[in-house]
Amino acid sequence: MNKFEQARKTAISTVREAAILCSRIRSELASGGAMTKQDKSPVTIADFGAQALVLHHLRQAFPDDPIVAEEDSAELKDAANQGLKERVISEVQHQLPALSESDILATIDRGNHTGGASGRFWTLDPIDGTKGFLRNDQYAIALALIEDGEPVLGVLGCPQFPLNPAQPDAVGSLFVAVKGQGARAYSLDGQDAGAIRVTGTTDPASACFCESVESGHSRHDWAEGVAQTLGITKPSVRMDSQCKYAAIARGEADIYLRLPTRPGYQEKIWDHAAGCIIVQEAGGCVTDIDGKPLDFSLGRTLRSNRGVVATNGKWHQAVIEAIKQTETA
Ligand code: AMP
Ligand code: MG
Repeated sequence: MNKFEQARKTAISTVREAAILCSRIRSELASGGAMTKQDKSPVTIADFGAQALVLHHLRQAFPDDPIVAEEDSAELKDAANQGLKERVISEVQHQLPALSESDILATIDRGNHTGGASGRFWTLDPIDGTKGFLRNDQYAIALALIEDGEPVLGVLGCPQFPLNPAQPDAVGSLFVAVKGQGARAYSLDGQDAGAIRVTGTTDPASACFCESVESGHSRHDWAEGVAQTLGITKPSVRMDSQCKYAAIARGEADIYLRLPTRPGYQEKIWDHAAGCIIVQEAGGCVTDIDGKPLDFSLGRTLRSNRGVVATNGKWHQAVIEAIKQTETA
């Protein structure tokens, strides 16, 4: 059997399970009107719940693998958050009835690994694109396996992302890449939708670039300068979460720009590992804004990198040059 086959199967099934939990909580949120109250608790419940589900299944399948995950249970154990904790426990028990409260809290805390350069570990963002989740927009469950500092498997579960861009209402997709084996799309219920590939576009007149919805996560004014320098005329596509990497990987957009909003911000490895290998395996290129490869070997953050650029690979260097030319303080 292929070296990563068991890891691939486990990652797909656990991301699908987490996506079910997130979609259920998301629909309760929509029907309960919590959005208008700007209530952040549903996203918090979904974050902790999805992390508990994924880490439980990883532990069952790979008891010795360390995990770098975004959340920990400290906040949930605070007496002030008793209600929140009870809702997390009940959502997780909905899917895993045998787990006790203490099992669930301990499972969430298995994501405290520090990462690093040697051996293998998993990295998880249980809900990437929290703001998108709250707006009923794009979000992703992002899981990757890193071996000796390099992503070797990535899975993105995207409950609100159409499987086929031509059918925008049929949402729910999953993207998977294994190092050296290409990238594929699946429906969220597991139907294989085939291999995916980046565009071959080099013509700025037809090129399309994407960026974060949040101007606090990526500088929109700078991106506009980059687009102008390259001769791109189409307005940017703004999207939350690592769905942007999926859009590049399946040829829906040509460039993803993540331009730092302030010096010193360190990108988190769980925000990029899955998306990065999916774009690379679909034929694209991912670096930071200085053209350096993303370095996943330095711990929980990409501390030697600035921002992120993903392209179809055809004009990566030209994009890096345009970023350099347009950089202002
Ligand atoms: P996006 O959906 O592209 O807006 O990215 C969401 C991710 O941005 C979150 O998971 C955060 O970890 C990350 N984030 C938070 N603050 C910043 C920042 N100042 N610059 C870049 N990314 C950030
Ligand atoms: Mg995130």
